[in-house]
Amino acid sequence: MTVNFTHSFVNELSGCYQHCEPEVCSSPQLLQLNKSLVHDLGIDYELLLGDVGVSMFSGNALPDNCKPIAQVYAGHQFGQFSSQLGDGRALLLGELVDRFGKRRDIQLKGSGRTPYSRGGDGKAALGPVLREYLVSEAMFSLGVKTTRALAVIGTDDWVAREELKPRAILTRVSSSHMRVGTFEFFAARGEWDQVKKLSDYAIERHFPNVRHSSDQYLNFFKEVLSSQAKLIADWMSIGFIHGVMNTDNMAISGETIDYGPCAFIDRYVPSTVFSSIDQHGRYAYQNQPKIGQWNLAQLAKALIPLHKEDQEAVVQRFVNELDEFNNRYRDYWLENMTKKIGLTSVVDGDADLIDQLLVLMERSKADFTTVFRHLALALEGDKSQLIGQFSDLKALEEWLMVWEKRLEANGTSREQCVQAMNSVNPIYIPRNHKMEEALDAAVNHSDLGPFTKMLELVTEPYDEQAGCDDYAISAPLDAKPHVTFCGT
Ligand code: AMP
Ligand code: MG
Repeated sequence: MTVNFTHSFVNELSGCYQHCEPEVCSSPQLLQLNKSLVHDLGIDYELLLGDVGVSMFSGNALPDNCKPIAQVYAGHQFGQFSSQLGDGRALLLGELVDRFGKRRDIQLKGSGRTPYSRGGDGKAALGPVLREYLVSEAMFSLGVKTTRALAVIGTDDWVAREELKPRAILTRVSSSHMRVGTFEFFAARGEWDQVKKLSDYAIERHFPNVRHSSDQYLNFFKEVLSSQAKLIADWMSIGFIHGVMNTDNMAISGETIDYGPCAFIDRYVPSTVFSSIDQHGRYAYQNQPKIGQWNLAQLAKALIPLHKEDQEAVVQRFVNELDEFNNRYRDYWLENMTKKIGLTSVVDGDADLIDQLLVLMERSKADFTTVFRHLALALEGDKSQLIGQFSDLKALEEWLMVWEKRLEANGTSREQCVQAMNSVNPIYIPRNHKMEEALDAAVNHSDLGPFTKMLELVTEPYDEQAGCDDYAISAPLDAKPHVTFCGT
C-alpha cells in the first residue's frame, strides 16, 4: 500500500482527539474519485480506482499506516455556547504532504459513530454528500479557499432521516481541521497549556511566518483574522451563503468548511437565508462579515489568557485588531468587486460605483451571477441581455455611462476589460434548483448523469458550453423558495 500517511496532529496534540475505528458499511462502491486532486496528493489514481480505494474510502479496511481519530471541539452555535462537540461523524485518517509540500488532512465524513456523536448516528446520506462534493469543488474552481472532495462511496445501507435515505461516505481533504471551536473547547475548561499547544501547532502548520515573532499569538490572531476577511469577501463576491457559520464551522486555516445548508443566491436580495434552521436570519448573506468578526472575537477570548502581561492592555490590543476586521474585509471585497466590473486598480469613488450597481440590482432582484457576465457583453455592444435583468432602465443607463467613463480612465482596452471580467465572473455556479435536479436523479433514480454534467460545468465555471443555458439562469420567479437542511 503506497499512501504515505503521517500523523503530526496525533503525535503533537494528545488530548485533542480520541482514537476511533470506522463502522463497516455494506457493498461499498466508489461513485466519485477526484482525479486531479488524487494527482496533487501524489497518490496513484489507478490504485485508488480498485479495491484499495474502496476499502480505504469506505473505512472497511484501512491501510496499516492510518491512525483514525475523531477531533474534539466546542462551538458557539447560533450564538449559544456548546462546550462539548467534536467529530461526531468524521474520522481523520492521517495527513499527506502533497506535491507542493503542503500538509493536507484526509478525513472520512459519515464513517459512523465516534466518542463525540452524542445522539447522532455518525452517518451521512448520499444527497448531502454529493452536494458537498459539487459545492466544494465549485468553490475551488472559483478560486475560493475551501476543503476539497476526494471521493464518494455509495453503500447498500440506509440512514434514518425524515425518511430512509441511502447512506454514503465522503472523503474530504483540508489544510487542517482545526476550528475556532477547537480553541474554545480548551479555553472553556481553563486548559491553557492545551490552548498554547494548539496555537503553536497552528502557527507551525499555517502561519510559520509569525513563529517566534514578538507577541506571536496576537500575530497569529491577525493572520487568522486576515484570512477570514479574505474568505468572506470571496464568498460575498460570488453570492455564496455558508448557512451555518457557527464557530465550530470556522477553520483556522481560512478554508471554507462544513458544507451543510450552504447555497448561492440567485436573485440579489441581501437578506437571503436558505437554511431551514436559521429562523432569525443570523447567517443571512448580508450578515456574514459581521458574523465572521463575532466568531473571531471568540477566538480572541481563547488566546488572550496566553499572555502573561497586564490583561487589560492585552485585551485592548486584540480589540484593536478585531476593529481592523471591517477595513480588511472592505479592502478585499473592493478588490474583488472592482475586478468584477473590469477595473485593474481601486480609486476613490469605486466603492460608491459598486454600491450603486448593487442598489439597482437589489431593486430589480437581478440575478447576481448573470449581471456581471452581461456587463461584459454590454461592453462588447450587446446590452439586450443586461437590460432584461433590470426594471429601472433609465437608472441602469446612467450607471453604465459613469462606469464606461471610469473604464476609460482605467486605461485598458475594451477587449482587455471583457477578457478580464470573464475570467473572474462565472457563468456556472451550483444553482439550487439545478443541484436539486441532479441530486434527485442520483438519490432516487441511481442516475449520476446530471450530477456529472453539473460537476463538469461548475468546475470550468468561466467557459461557456453550448446547450447549457438552463444552468446559467435563476429559478423561475414562481418557483418554490429554496430551503436547505443542515447536517443530514
Ligand atoms: P454541523 O452542523 O454539521 O457542523 O455539525 C455540528 C455537530 O454535530 C458536529 O459536532 C458534528 O460532528 C455533529 N453531527 C452532525 N451530524 C451528525 C450525525 N449524523 N451523527 C453524529 N454527529 C453529528
Ligand atoms: Mg460542523
